Amino acid sequence: MGLIDQRLAAILVCTDCHGDLTEDLEASTLVCTKCGLRYAVVDGIANMILADATRS
Ligand SMILES: [Zn+2]
Repeated sequence: MGLIDQRLAAILVCTDCHGDLTEDLEASTLVCTKCGLRYAVVDGIANMILADATRS
C-alpha cells in the first residue's frame, strides 16, 4: 500500500525536471529520483505545486 493511488503514481513526474518519483512512506512525500525535490502527500493527495516542494 503506497501513499497515493498506484495508477496515479505511475504517471506522475517531477514538476521541475520531469524525473520519476519514488515514495518515501516514512516522510509521506514523493521524492524525485533525478533532482531530489520532495512533494508532500496529504490524505492520499500529492501536492505537485513547485512552490510548495522542498529540496532534501
Ligand atoms: Zn525533479
